[in-house]
Amino acid sequence: MIGSQEIIDEICRYDVPLQRYTSFKTGGAAEIFVEPRNTSELEKVLQFCKDEQKKIFIFGNGTNILVNDNGVRGMVIRLGGVNFKKVSRIDKYVSSGAGVDLSQLIRKTALWGLEGLEVLVGIPGTVGGAVMMNAGGKHGNISETISSITTMTFDGKIKDYNREDVEFTYRGCNLDKQIVMKVEFILKESRKEEILERMDKIYKEKKEKQPLSTFSAGCIFKNTHYFKAAELIEKADLKGKKVGGAIVSKKHANFIVNTGNATSADILELIRIIKETIKKKYNVSLEQEIQIW
Ligand SMILES: Cc1cc2nc3c(=O)[nH]c(=O)nc-3n(C[C@H](O)[C@H](O)[C@H](O)COP(=O)(O)OP(=O)(O)OC[C@H]3O[C@@H](n4cnc5c(N)ncnc54)[C@H](O)[C@@H]3O)c2cc1C
Repeated sequence: MIGSQEIIDEICRYDVPLQRYTSFKTGGAAEIFVEPRNTSELEKVLQFCKDEQKKIFIFGNGTNILVNDNGVRGMVIRLGGVNFKKVSRIDKYVSSGAGVDLSQLIRKTALWGLEGLEVLVGIPGTVGGAVMMNAGGKHGNISETISSITTMTFDGKIKDYNREDVEFTYRGCNLDKQIVMKVEFILKESRKEEILERMDKIYKEKKEKQPLSTFSAGCIFKNTHYFKAAELIEKADLKGKKVGGAIVSKKHANFIVNTGNATSADILELIRIIKETIKKKYNVSLEQEIQIW
């Protein structure tokens, strides 16, 4: 039988540039990067982190993360193994591993004639990342279709939650220091053609308003109760504002785009400028939606 240390030696990689994994295409290296293939390996990785006092970072598809140019000290864990990428269905219940690509799950459930997830079309990332961020938009959030969630705590305990035991907020939830491993959705049986049509409509709408095929991390700031962040940024004449290779999108003011050679420092400086300007002009403190590592 292979021991814990051998598994760790086999699956951990050192000094791995995260730039190639993030949607911003910026950021430094992870001290250690690991893709456990199953629950048992994940548990061993977490035990290693505890023994070696390594800080834990969970990485989905990096579509909502800005990694510092200096990288991160600690263990970056990505649920990339096949065991975290399984999808199954019993009637209107769909179970998905956290490493599954959200867009693939949306398409699959639509083709099964199951309604509910199509409102998330166009949101990149993994199912696990979407749950942690309570991803969504004006047509709905992922939390509305969840029936249960299985996690592993940072100290290796498996926990099962019913939907009502988890507190979901605007772009977040209270599953701190836990790794989402599996999610069960309860969807509604419907006509496949209608779901696909709706999906197409929502995607076109999103594509028209957002710079989807650029290097970005989606909306940088959360909307406030009273104002949309994009409207304030646009009103403050910041569309097109540049720092190095980073620019405030001319298509959607709440997106910062890496035009090709931006560093994370450029993006951070642009974030600072936007926050300062909005505070000065409108006395509103914008809060970041993206996660900064
Ligand atoms: C072009 C574009 C459009 C976007 N549009 C939208 C939109 O309309 N609505 C919206 O809500 N978001 C949007 N986003 C943001 C982003 O896609 C979502 O937040 C997405 O759900 C993040 O998923 P991810 O797998 O990439 O997570 P990551 O970015 O990798 O991680 C996000 C957070 O979740 C945590 N995390 C990831 N996986 C797990 C896990 N298995 N267990 C525990 N924690 C985990 C990470 O530690 C991090 O804190 C957009 C992004 C882009 C680039």
